[in-house]
Amino acid sequence: MAVYPEQIERLCDMFRRLDGIGRKTAMRLTLSVLDLPEEDVQAFSQALIAAKTEIGFCKCCQNISASELCPVCAAPGRDKSTICVVEDFRAAMALEKMNEYNGLYHVLHGVISPMKGIGPEKLKIRELISRLDGSVTEVILATNPTPEGETTAMYLSRLIAPLGVRVSRIANGMPVGGDLEYADEITLRRAIEGRYSMNQTNGATAE
Ligand code: ZN
Repeated sequence: MAVYPEQIERLCDMFRRLDGIGRKTAMRLTLSVLDLPEEDVQAFSQALIAAKTEIGFCKCCQNISASELCPVCAAPGRDKSTICVVEDFRAAMALEKMNEYNGLYHVLHGVISPMKGIGPEKLKIRELISRLDGSVTEVILATNPTPEGETTAMYLSRLIAPLGVRVSRIANGMPVGGDLEYADEITLRRAIEGRYSMNQTNGATAE
């Protein structure tokens, strides 16, 4: 026999679908919804739907955006000659919070992972290449320092270096297997500042 009414169990199941939420936390969140005034619950449900339906992807950098162009791509003061390539929007947000990088981003929406059946065609690589129209002089590969992140960086450097664009990889200041999203600002800054060229390793003649 279920302890809680079906409506409670149903909401609890929905919370459990969220990343990092187990049964106990889901039930705690569910029960705290009952404590909210009804107008707050209405606003909560509307905010959920708006976050999902009104957020799309920037047509240029593929980051999440509420408008056709994200605020970074739309900003006139950004350095449009540099693109920093990241795995997901969380990493772009982490770098943006650092408040030092003034170039643009490109969000891949994943990394190459043969284990998970993710090939290059499933990532936003075509969109990245189409941005390299001569105005971009450097591409910084800031995928995470995991085996998949390294594989993806190597793949991209082989693809991009022959186009005459400088390709660099973020420095090893990042812990191996680490995640950009959780790196502190000093580590992130060191990773960007200490980036090294990947052009030589590919025998390409950028610079
Ligand atoms: Zn954008």
